[in-house]
Amino acid sequence: MTGVEALIRWRHPTRGLVPPSEFIALAEHTGLIRPLTTYVLRESMRQARRWLDQGFRVPIAVNISARSLLDATFPAEVVALLAEVGLPPELIELEVTESAMLEDPDQALRLLARLDEFGIAIAIDDFGTGYSSLAQLKRLPMRELKIDRSFVAAMLADERDAFIVRSTIKLGHDLGLRVIAEGVEDIETLHHLLTLGCDTAQGFLIQRPVPGEELTHWLQEQADPSASPAAAA
Ligand code: MN
Repeated sequence: MTGVEALIRWRHPTRGLVPPSEFIALAEHTGLIRPLTTYVLRESMRQARRWLDQGFRVPIAVNISARSLLDATFPAEVVALLAEVGLPPELIELEVTESAMLEDPDQALRLLARLDEFGIAIAIDDFGTGYSSLAQLKRLPMRELKIDRSFVAAMLADERDAFIVRSTIKLGHDLGLRVIAEGVEDIETLHHLLTLGCDTAQGFLIQRPVPGEELTHWLQEQADPSASPAAAA
């Protein structure tokens, strides 16, 4: 277990569970994405702090939108939130997509560099689906590269996807980055990724998205398998 990713869900009183695909774009258009990002950051930091108090060091990755990357006040806000919650910066990671950096690459780069100076790790998310150039990529102060799930999910069935995954792992490693494969749902894919030298896997095979409290039980089981009901049975 190397870390978790914060995923937002909206439990609406009458509409039930509203998927993020329905409200994130809307939040971006209306500007509500900034307060929403603040909310997710604070809640994620609080959860990481609770786990730390329970003896678990669990870095949490938070997805950051283009809007935040264009806001010069964003790095200071992240640092203020860390101080408010009392969380070390290495327990929070920010995920940005290639397209989020497209609008104003220079401003995005300045903000990411400042966050990096504060000791906050940056990951490039959904890699391979955006339009960032390698020239742009090499300038980024990132520590992790996340291969988009579409390539990972298809890599056993389609040779070309497997080649893309293999090349991306090589590219990431040559640039000194940790490489994460997203969307790992079966053991065969995991094995293939291992043979390709991928560092980390994320997906339903490892753990489906669950509320923080539920994950605490899983962390306890990982730390002490003999304590789990399954192992006792
Ligand atoms: Mn992500």
